[in-house]
Amino acid sequence: MRDLLGDEAARRRAFDTAFIEVVGAAGYEQIVPPILEDIGVFSRIGEATDVVSKEMYDFVDRGGRHVALRPEQTASVCRAFVEHRPALPYKAWYSGPNFRYEKPQRGRQRQFDQVGIEVLGPEDPHVDVEVIAIGWDFLASLGLTDVELVLNSLGDPEDRRRFTEAVGDHLRAHLAKLSEQSRETLERNPLRVLDSKRSEDAPIIAAAPRIEDFWSTEAAEHFSEVRSGLDRIGVPWRADGGLVRGLDYYRRTTFEFRSGALDSAQNALGGGGRYDGLVEDLGGPATPGIGFAIGVERTLIACDSESAFPGPAGGVEVFVVDTTGGSEALALSTELRRGGRTVDRGFGGRSMKAQMKAADRSGAQLALIIGDDELASGTVTARFLRGDRPQEQWARTEANRLVAEALADHRPPEMTES
Ligand code: AMP
Repeated sequence: MRDLLGDEAARRRAFDTAFIEVVGAAGYEQIVPPILEDIGVFSRIGEATDVVSKEMYDFVDRGGRHVALRPEQTASVCRAFVEHRPALPYKAWYSGPNFRYEKPQRGRQRQFDQVGIEVLGPEDPHVDVEVIAIGWDFLASLGLTDVELVLNSLGDPEDRRRFTEAVGDHLRAHLAKLSEQSRETLERNPLRVLDSKRSEDAPIIAAAPRIEDFWSTEAAEHFSEVRSGLDRIGVPWRADGGLVRGLDYYRRTTFEFRSGALDSAQNALGGGGRYDGLVEDLGGPATPGIGFAIGVERTLIACDSESAFPGPAGGVEVFVVDTTGGSEALALSTELRRGGRTVDRGFGGRSMKAQMKAADRSGAQLALIIGDDELASGTVTARFLRGDRPQEQWARTEANRLVAEALADHRPPEMTES
């Protein structure tokens, strides 16, 4: 679990802003579910998944309720949907922390943030296309280019059941050659073995039954429309029958966004799929759903590797230095802030030198200095901290207007370039 300070926190906020821009443009509304839920909400995800069986932060609260910190948010969104029954289609986005007791490593934390969307209601394959395209366009909007969309369909529940059985039979027939980990996984969830990256498993996985041989006519038709929809809007994809994803509730379309800039073990930036049974499992009416979740930390690591999305430049525009006791800094900084400027100031009656140092650190373009002379003559000294404009003496009453003019001339480089 990490602290975010300064530039990192600002970048995290900008990440949300970028996400909201993309999902807001497609009519999604925000949902803020609680971080703590009844354990039952998550056990529906599937007892056979690591997320639920091994990684959950769950405990009994003071009232004797068995609760858990959410390991993901789709189940919470569905639980909230069942409780509030918003109009269909319900298109929602979220952003916030999840908790999983995993082995921490680069790109894997015990508290991590996800942004995501869910659409409840329509079974229309165009919804699948919209959801996938939003994820794709969002990652592109961050400036990421080395991203691959991997696509699969798990068929309908009955298809998936028969496929799981066939995969289980196949794997058991080759038990002796499987890795120890995969033998263990096989007991709990045969499909997850298809995710194994261990070399000894590779030939057995390559010879395993293929999901497309198990698709119902309807599931095959749905998937075909998803693919042609993506083609129509120019979102490139690669089909991979081995993409099964961690959570149990998926059916039909599943997808993952992978980064070529990350190690293959942690290269999934995010993913999602259709989960037509989840709302019903949580006590609601049968309601199809689809969504994705994108991991914020991991996506920012990919951004670092691709030198994308540096985050906003921090700091203020103006720094007020007052060596006359601070009362002038109080008045001038307040006046400028009320006029719409971003302003910081020195505190504690520190020396001119110390306050100028602070002004430099603040990132300000402009220092406004008030000493005894300025106070006596009703002026401020304007010192330009970037560039070579010589300092000027301004009438105190004109400061607001002259600051606006000076900042218009002295825009930071990243704003004047475009
Ligand atoms: P999942 O909900 O397991 O499908 O994960 C979706 C995305 O969330 C992954 O692709 C990661 O980017 C991110 N994610 C999942 N678990 C973690 C974790 N423990 N630490 C950091 N990011 C994670």
